[in-house]
Amino acid sequence: MARDLGPKCRICRREGMKLFLKGERCLTEKCAIERRSYPPGEHGRGRIKQSEYLLQLREKQKARRYYGLLEKQFRTYYDKASKRSGVTGEELLRMLETRLDNVVYRLGFAASRAQARQLVRHGHFQVNGRRVNIPSYQVRPNDVVTVASSSSAQQVIRDATDLVSTVAPWLQADHDGLTGKMLKQPERDEIDTPVQEQLIVELYSK
Ligand code: SF4
Repeated sequence: MARDLGPKCRICRREGMKLFLKGERCLTEKCAIERRSYPPGEHGRGRIKQSEYLLQLREKQKARRYYGLLEKQFRTYYDKASKRSGVTGEELLRMLETRLDNVVYRLGFAASRAQARQLVRHGHFQVNGRRVNIPSYQVRPNDVVTVASSSSAQQVIRDATDLVSTVAPWLQADHDGLTGKMLKQPERDEIDTPVQEQLIVELYSK
């Protein structure tokens, strides 16, 4: 499956904030944002003229990279969200949050979304007792996500659980039993993704 393989810290520096793309390293002083918080490139420390379009573009890029998606995949989510009856921006975030790889990360079973995606792809997780290796699988309320009993990654997953103390309120996690449950669809104020989704909607509605 196609994915962005570029330097992750450069993405955070471009967006000017920590996007937590590298797992444990993001929690240490080795984080590139802690050391060089200006944008990458020759003109990174120069003044950039802010336009409405640039703000909208940056917000979309930030959200897309936060969830580790390519443009085409992200646009498909937007198209689906715009057909839903709710507020488009919120529906977009809700669909992104309930992807299986994001749920695994939010449950604390992976140190980053990239690691969550790899663990899912390699078949280490089950949903309602059935193995699911599709990162984009949409988890629904009352679905139970468990680490496969035969998984060789149990120690890696247990190590990841040590990095989190709480999980999102719309999820329930049992880190000893390596199992989690989606309690309900997340409300906007329960999603801590640092984006202004309205700007993304404005960009795509042009
Ligand atoms: Fe971003 Fe993590 Fe790199 Fe810091 S260490 S710049 S949060 S990916």
